[in-house]
Amino acid sequence: MTSFLPLLVAAAAAAFTVSAQVAQPPVLQASELSACLGQLRGEALARGIPGEKYDEIFASMEPDPSILVLMDKQPEFVTPIWDYLGALVDEKRIAQGRLKLAAFSDALDRIEETYGVDRQVLVALWGVETRYGEIMGSRPLLRSLATGACFGRRQPFFRQELLATLRIVHSGDIAPERLVGSWAGAFGQTQFMPSTFHRVAVDFDGDGRKDILDSVPDALASTANYLKQSGWKKGEPWGYEVRVPRKYDGPSGRRARLPMERWRELGIKRIDGRALPGDENAALLMPAGSRGPAFIVTSNFQALIAYNPAEAYALAIAHLSDRLKGGGAIQASWPVGETMLTREQRIALQERLAARGYDVGTPDGIIGPRTVEAIKEFQKSIGLQPDGFATVALLKKM
Ligand code: CA
Repeated sequence: MTSFLPLLVAAAAAAFTVSAQVAQPPVLQASELSACLGQLRGEALARGIPGEKYDEIFASMEPDPSILVLMDKQPEFVTPIWDYLGALVDEKRIAQGRLKLAAFSDALDRIEETYGVDRQVLVALWGVETRYGEIMGSRPLLRSLATGACFGRRQPFFRQELLATLRIVHSGDIAPERLVGSWAGAFGQTQFMPSTFHRVAVDFDGDGRKDILDSVPDALASTANYLKQSGWKKGEPWGYEVRVPRKYDGPSGRRARLPMERWRELGIKRIDGRALPGDENAALLMPAGSRGPAFIVTSNFQALIAYNPAEAYALAIAHLSDRLKGGGAIQASWPVGETMLTREQRIALQERLAARGYDVGTPDGIIGPRTVEAIKEFQKSIGLQPDGFATVALLKKM
């Protein structure tokens, strides 16, 4: 739900990683951590943390060098989106989700009424983030964040999160020994960052504590509050699986947001052949190119992206929510024979695009929106259907 991804989908940052180059953890000195935390003490006190408490928390803290390894991990191989979705939206997670909908139906009634976010979306997000609270991470948050605050390349970011965590401890919302989570500091049933906690967490079960770790009603209401603040529109769908005309060469991608009427004019229909309803602005996603499924996504999909900026992740939640509503599997087939590019090949693709004058930014192996646009332009220039999908076949053409 931040620039860092949750545990289960830690894979999805820029691409869908399944493995990474293994680096040796650096040697970090406890004395260096202690000196750094001494410098931060004043800032913590200014935010209302008592000095005694601060000293007690950090008295014998050792840095955790593995944090720095994880921070600099580079995706080497890429998991295709069909494998990624298949792993996150399987029969087991659907069945578990239905049980959760039943078990928490009273709380979900009130949450829907208060925030206007569908219960199936909330439960799906919960299922994707932590498999309904089964995998919430086990790293002590204060240690991870103190290490990031004092070592490595993202110290200002981690410093703010560390201070936010100290405020959570001081408020009594969650006991320090319960505060465990991902290496990057995300914690709880739906993996909030500490700064997000302060912005949106609510006490929904009425016990006086905002506890997104041990209270499911608190966690789901806080998540609903997050989505509401990100622009969730009550009663609107996230989008639809659609059918795109053969040889479609019109706009696509999350940034090309057009009125629904325009998509109808372009010949795009729902997968079952019905017309696209409504007049909202929407975008057309083709996450595996022209040979895979396509989706029209609305502003509610953008709210899921705000929670965690990865399209595959938002699609997993969207699709799981449909399944929890009784909907079926994605109908179009994925191009499962397609081999994903390695990191080296992705960089080579970007370099060749750059050499042809396309703007891809710095070739970094991350296929972001600029690279996708460049691929589309290149595809158009050689008479291919411009779907922006980076494949081995495309690299060979260059
Ligand atoms: Ca509570």
